[in-house]
Amino acid sequence: MSRQPLTASQRIPAIAKPFVSERAAKTLDIVEKFVYEECIPADPIYAQQTGRTIEERFSAHPQVMEDLKVKARKLGLFNMFLPKNHFTEGAGFSNLEYGLMAECLGKSTTASEATNCAAPDTGNMEVFAKYGTQEQKDKWLKPLLAGEIRSAFLMTEPQVASSDARNIELSMTQDGDYWVLNGQKWWSSGTGDPRCQVYITMGKSDPHNPDPYFQQSVILVAADTPGITIHRMLSVFGYDDAPHGHGHVSFDNVRVHKSNMVLGPGRGFEIIQGRLGPGRIHHAMRSIGAAEKGLEYMIARINDPRKKPFGKQLSEHGVMLDRLARLRIEIDAARLVVLDAAMKIDNSDAKGAKKEIAQAKIFVPEVLLKTLDWAIQAHGGGGVCQDTPLPSMYAHGRTMAIVDGPSEVHALQLGRNENKRAQECRDKLAAQSAKTEQLLKEYGLEKVDRLQLNRKSESRSRL
Ligand SMILES: Cc1cc2nc3c(=O)[nH]c(=O)nc-3n(C[C@H](O)[C@H](O)[C@H](O)COP(=O)(O)OP(=O)(O)OC[C@H]3O[C@@H](n4cnc5c(N)ncnc54)[C@H](O)[C@@H]3O)c2cc1C
Repeated sequence: MSRQPLTASQRIPAIAKPFVSERAAKTLDIVEKFVYEECIPADPIYAQQTGRTIEERFSAHPQVMEDLKVKARKLGLFNMFLPKNHFTEGAGFSNLEYGLMAECLGKSTTASEATNCAAPDTGNMEVFAKYGTQEQKDKWLKPLLAGEIRSAFLMTEPQVASSDARNIELSMTQDGDYWVLNGQKWWSSGTGDPRCQVYITMGKSDPHNPDPYFQQSVILVAADTPGITIHRMLSVFGYDDAPHGHGHVSFDNVRVHKSNMVLGPGRGFEIIQGRLGPGRIHHAMRSIGAAEKGLEYMIARINDPRKKPFGKQLSEHGVMLDRLARLRIEIDAARLVVLDAAMKIDNSDAKGAKKEIAQAKIFVPEVLLKTLDWAIQAHGGGGVCQDTPLPSMYAHGRTMAIVDGPSEVHALQLGRNENKRAQECRDKLAAQSAKTEQLLKEYGLEKVDRLQLNRKSESRSRL
């Protein structure tokens, strides 16, 4: 029954294959082997080396991660995420090629960081590479690319609806050569890690600007600047995500030199929009891998020979095969949606691929959660406990519909754009109808009801 599995490069969807270089296809197989043979077996070691107490967990620097990084570097697997047509600093792959690799990385909790392709550093490095001055790049981008430090992106605030970035209100006032920052941030991912040295921070520098899209700025704040306090680490359904973590941070008269401003005052929106494009896609790409992993667990469980409810292997119960079939279709469809968005970014940029990015951002978490839910269900009680990674994957998968803009916000934008075709659709249907009228005349025909409802009502009246 068992068959030789195809390698990652052999599984590239036919529609994407012509756009994947030979070098990328080879690297993809190396990534997959590295994830399967090195990272997934090391995931529990990483969890154990992170420690137990809060103090241990948020000061941990698991040795196994550094060992994996050394192996990844030797294999040439570092910084694959920086796309070649926009940046010179990366490993020279396109978004499409990285998308296929990120799917493999998404199957392990250690693989993304081991290859220096972990969020939020990936999006943050893109900010430095795209918008940073040489001085900012030397100070922050170089050690980030080398995997020596980590970074955080501080936008969301506890007191406002942050999915609308116009609401962000951390105050930024100028005092000589310095900007003075006051306010609060939360869900500041990465701030728990002692290696996190820079916070890319969004605040309001020009609250009275009549255009709300020019009120915000983005500034680089060294994590050890006086006045910064991390009050607590937030959990995701009880998971603390240590040592990385998600901080609730306050700024109390934090003084930052004006040379740390990115692009210039008032250009915050430009930066966050540029940052979130590829970043959103990276999450979606990894989520496809997580869905595949969930499916693997489900297949393994429904074929466990020890578990035969009502006298049959679970895989002999039709509903399970039906679910496998549906998940196979949806995961494959979701992959195409993600790769399409990646190709669109490759051919233009994140702005040009807004529609495709939104589609991926909405659709992929739905498919991931459905897959994990059915995989958990197939495991019975075992599915919700610590014996498989499924509950943790579900908890983190659930956040995908919230982070980087909730699904509703993307759907609203997509719906609005689609609705812009209103006149076009109405005109097209009216023109087709008019042409039918003209053809009816030409062929000497009367217009008839195609469903013949008239005849039906006649026969009824005869009864
Ligand atoms: C695990 C995790 C990691 C995160 N990491 C970071 C990080 O590193 N940096 C950072 O800055 N932030 C981060 N966030 C925060 C995340 O980006 C925000 O939570 C998200 O943007 C939503 O903002 P909000 O929480 O303020 O919710 P709100 O803006 O108050 O929205 C609440 C809900 O309202 C609904 N809603 C919003 N707008 C609309 C609409 N137009 N139509 C219909 N319904 C709508 C949605 O259901 C939404 O979930 C993280 C969040 C999580 C859970």
